[in-house]
Parts: sequence; C-alpha cells; structure tokens
Amino acid sequence: MKQIKDILQAQGLKPTFQRLRILEYLQKNHNHPTVEMIYEDLVKEIPTISKTTIYNTLDALAEKGIIHTITITGTECRYDYQSFWHHHFLCRRCGRVIDVDIKCPYMKKKQINGHRVEELHGYLKGICKECLRKK
Ligand SMILES: [Zn+2]
Ligand SMILES: [Zn+2]
Repeated sequence: MKQIKDILQAQGLKPTFQRLRILEYLQKNHNHPTVEMIYEDLVKEIPTISKTTIYNTLDALAEKGIIHTITITGTECRYDYQSFWHHHFLCRRCGRVIDVDIKCPYMKKKQINGHRVEELHGYLKGICKECLRKK
C-alpha cells in the first residue's frame, strides 16, 4: 500500500488509526463510496467508529486535497481518492459512479480567461453499459 502515513504527514495531518484506515479504504475501493457505505464496511472491523468520525476525517482529507468530493447525484456526497483529475459518469438506473477517461483541454492548463483553476469536475449522466445489456 502506498505510504498512507506519508501522504497524511506531508499534508500536516496526524496519522491516527482511523484516518489511516479510512484513507486506505478509499485507496482500495474505487466505487466512490458515500459516508454510509464506508461506515457499513469499517464498523465490522472497528466497532467503535462512528459516522461523525468518518465524516470529519473525510472532511479533513478533502480540505487538504488528498481526496475529492463528488456531488454528481445532487443528493449525496461521494468520496474519491485519485491523484489525478478525471470526470465521472452516473448511471441513472443502478446509481453507480464510474470514472471516465476524457481528454479535457482544461485538465492541464490550470487556467481559463485569466482565472486560476484549482479543481475540475465533469459530470456525465446516462445508463451504464451493464444496465444497457440487461435490457
Ligand atoms: Zn447502471
Ligand atoms: Zn473517480
């Protein structure tokens, strides 16, 4: 596992046990989980963990730019650990959020009309290929 401890320390965050486990979880699970999904999985091995702890940890990680928040559904926040910017596709039928590889001209430029770009989120919505196949 890529030195999770180093990632936290480089951003001035104490590598507490819960922070390490939550970041590790996001590194392993690329399904853009919600707080609930992370909680359901982690509480099995860390019975003392609370949703508030997870929420606060995710908040701190996002603030430092270690993880990214995705609000593609408009009703919930999903979390993503990925060192590079990418766009997302939401399946309206099964609700999956999938990474999409689109060559975006603004990804590398970091500026537009003189404004500095610090984040870039492209949201696409439709029906994913698995759901299309089931029809
Ligand atoms: Zn689908
Ligand atoms: Zn993603």
